[in-house]
Amino acid sequence: MTVAAAVDKQARSHGYDFAGPLGVGAITIVAPSVSYLLYFGCNEHGCPPTRMSWAQYTENVLPTWDQFFSLEVLGYFVAYVFGLAFLNLTIPVRDRLGVTLKTGERLVYNLNAFETFMPLMGALAFGTYINGWEWAFWTWIWDHYLHLLTSAHVFAFALACGVYLASFRSSKPLLAAGGNSGNHLYDWFIGRELNPRIGRLDIKLFCELHPGMMGWSILNLAFAAHQYQTIGRITDSMVLINIFQFWYVFDALYNEPAILTTMDITSDGFGYMLSFGDLVWVPFTYSLQARYLAMYPVDLGILGVGGVLLVKGIGYSIFRGANSQKNAFRTNPDHPDLKHLKYIETKSGRKLLVSGWWGISRHINYLGDWIMGWSWCLPTGFDTWVTYFYVGYFAVLLVNRERRDDGHCRIKYGDDWKRYTSIVRSRIVPGIY
Ligand code: NDP
Repeated sequence: MTVAAAVDKQARSHGYDFAGPLGVGAITIVAPSVSYLLYFGCNEHGCPPTRMSWAQYTENVLPTWDQFFSLEVLGYFVAYVFGLAFLNLTIPVRDRLGVTLKTGERLVYNLNAFETFMPLMGALAFGTYINGWEWAFWTWIWDHYLHLLTSAHVFAFALACGVYLASFRSSKPLLAAGGNSGNHLYDWFIGRELNPRIGRLDIKLFCELHPGMMGWSILNLAFAAHQYQTIGRITDSMVLINIFQFWYVFDALYNEPAILTTMDITSDGFGYMLSFGDLVWVPFTYSLQARYLAMYPVDLGILGVGGVLLVKGIGYSIFRGANSQKNAFRTNPDHPDLKHLKYIETKSGRKLLVSGWWGISRHINYLGDWIMGWSWCLPTGFDTWVTYFYVGYFAVLLVNRERRDDGHCRIKYGDDWKRYTSIVRSRIVPGIY
């Protein structure tokens, strides 16, 4: 049997995540609906628990087709994504090898997300310096938020269909273990091909870090600008949200090589799940807190700012400490700085840490990320629960993600994974879960 055939056979025996085709079908309807509901349910006309009457809804909220979709804005959105793709291919890069694939091959990745992001932010800072927060660019984003959201939906859907169809090409690309079930809907959602590429452009890595993550920061700044245009100043809560989330993006892009060992890159195919997640969900729903504050300003004061900073500091130390430790260990387990860490050897030849951050729980990095999520919601105050949507949704995502990763690792490591989980017993929250 050829390597490709063996990988294919293993892929087909992988089993379903998300309760199979029915589950992914439901997510394909519910998740996009939620992204719109957050806009229609929380806007200048009200945000729960403030209720709008049906008459107010139809008068103020429910859009006409022209308010909902604009071909011109779709064109700008496509130009934005293509422009970033062009920069990905042209800005001098830090070439890095990805992890070893099942075929024994290692892909070369162009890592220049950070080098793209900083000049982009520099250009926006310059534009704002010259034109002030009233700059027409920021106003345009606010005015076309719904058009941009719909454009991102259209693009993500089309991209998922494109890569799915391309995965059937005759050159037989490497398929993702979980996205090759034979069920069209399921495989389209999970991602059939592991690493779809156009020339040197790795579509998955590009979508993970470029248009969506950068778009999230741009939206947040547009919301700060709107607040300034409305009340003549930017509140401490808006400053905090912008700094925290900018830092999250900056950190992910600066530490770009770390993404090469994450589940999205090593195990998941690229399908609707990631194209929607990267291009729609991250920028548009993660910026909800800043959008809320643009309409409903909150002043935290010194104590409030201090409390929020404390929560952020705790979350970030866990998150960055754990992710960097694993990345350092995976890159060079013999590095002198890692000498104190204990690990177990596995039959696959790879080692699993059983001390340090990864000895506390199997996904302590998720806990850190979730705690940071609280520091993004708390600055919005307590007048609405909508802005806390993020921590609720994120808890569900992380619990599901841990189960999926556990499934992948059980297949990857067999009995060694059982041995590992008997040593490190907690999944995410030490001693509790
Ligand atoms: P992880 O970075 O946690 O990677 C999981 C992989 O790490 C496993 O598949 C395994 O792969 C390896 N691993 C597991 N245990 C050990 C161990 N003890 N020692 C060494 N290696 C081990 O997964 P994610 O990609 O899910 O998360 C990365 C970060 O991204 C997290 O901080 C997460 O919170 C964040 N994230 C944020 C999201 C958001 O929307 N904000 C969404 C998803 C993730 P192998 O053995 O093959 O190396």
